[in-house]
Amino acid sequence: MTPAPTSTTDRVSTRVSIALLGVRSDAPVRRTGGAGPSDDGHFVIDGAGAAIPLNLASPYVVNARGRLTLDGADLGFDVSPVTRPRFYDLQTSEGVAYDKIAKLHGKNVLATTVVQTCVRYDESERCRFCAIEASLDAGTTIAVKTPAMLAEVAEAAVRLDGVTNMVMTTGTSNGWDRGAKHLARCVRAVKKAVPSLEIQVQCEPPADLQAITDLYEAGARSIGIHVESMDDAVRARWMPGKSRVSMDEYRASWREAVRVFGWNQVSTYLLVGLGEDPDELVAGAAELIEMGVYPFIVPFRPLKGTLATDVDRVPAPDRRILNSVTARVATLLQAAGMRGEDQRAGCAACGACSALQTAGA
Ligand code: SF4
Repeated sequence: MTPAPTSTTDRVSTRVSIALLGVRSDAPVRRTGGAGPSDDGHFVIDGAGAAIPLNLASPYVVNARGRLTLDGADLGFDVSPVTRPRFYDLQTSEGVAYDKIAKLHGKNVLATTVVQTCVRYDESERCRFCAIEASLDAGTTIAVKTPAMLAEVAEAAVRLDGVTNMVMTTGTSNGWDRGAKHLARCVRAVKKAVPSLEIQVQCEPPADLQAITDLYEAGARSIGIHVESMDDAVRARWMPGKSRVSMDEYRASWREAVRVFGWNQVSTYLLVGLGEDPDELVAGAAELIEMGVYPFIVPFRPLKGTLATDVDRVPAPDRRILNSVTARVATLLQAAGMRGEDQRAGCAACGACSALQTAGA
C-alpha cells in the first residue's frame, strides 16, 4: 500500500503526476479548447483550485469519499469537483448564454477571452499549443465580448457564485495595442459594475508601452504578459508568429509592467515540455523573479484542436522534469518572498494550472 504523502516533496510529486496523468472522476465543470494550454476538470484539492485533466485511463481515482487514491491507497488529498456555477444558467437580454461570455476557472475565478480571434491564427503563424478559435468553431463561445456583456456576467458571478477575481485575456489584434485597448474598455465596465472584483489582464507586449498604464488606470491590478518560452529556438518552432515579438520587447514590457503594477503583480507563463533545456528554463525564471515577475510554471498539455496535438502529436512532458523544474523555481520564488497568492488576481493567484502553490510558492 502506498503511504499517504506527508512531505512537501511527496505532495508536489503527486500534484505533478495528476496534472499530467489526470484523474478519473465525474467533475461537472470542464473547459475544453479556448486560449492557452488546457483541457481540464476543475477541482478543489485541499482547499485550493486545481485544473486537472479528466482521463478515464488514469491510475489516479477520486473515490466516493472525495479522497485521491492510487491502486486503492489513500494519497492524503481531499478532492472535490467544483460545482456547476449558477450564473451558467442565465442569458443576456439578447439571448446570449452567460457561459459563452465567461467561464468559471478553479473555484473562484471568472475567466474570459474578450476577443476570441487572433491575427496570428493562420496555420503558418499560430502558436502550436493554442486552440483559441476552436471553441468559436464549436459554438461554445462568441467572437467578441462587449464591455456591457462582461459587466453583466461579472455582477452575476460575484453575486451568485462567490467569484473573487477575474482573468481577461485576448487574442492578438493588428493594432499598436495588440488588443489592449478593448481589454481596457472591458476592465473599466466590469469595475464600474463590481468595484470589489480584482482583475488580471493578459496580453502580448504592446507596441506602445502606454497601453500598460492604460490597463492599470482602467482598474486592472495584475497583468500577465505571457512568453511561454524564453528560448528563441523553441519560440520560433512553437510560436512562429508570436516569436517575431523579440525577447527585448518582452523584457521592456515586463519592466514597464512592474513599474506600473508593482512587484509580484506581473506574471508570465513558462511551459515545460516544448523541448527546452530545463536548466535554461530555471535560469530564465530566476531572471524574471529578479525583475519582480512571477514565472508561472505549467506543463504543456496535449489538447485536441491544436497543431501540437493534431499534427505534431507532441506528448505531455516527462513527470520527473516537470517535478524538478517546479521544485527548483518554487525554491527561487520562496527565497525572493514571492507567492502566487499575493497577486491580486489571475493565474498566479489562482494557481490551478500549476503545482507551484503546492510547492509553497
Ligand atoms: S491558473 Fe489561470 S488558466 Fe488556470 S484555471 Fe486558474 S485562472 Fe484559469
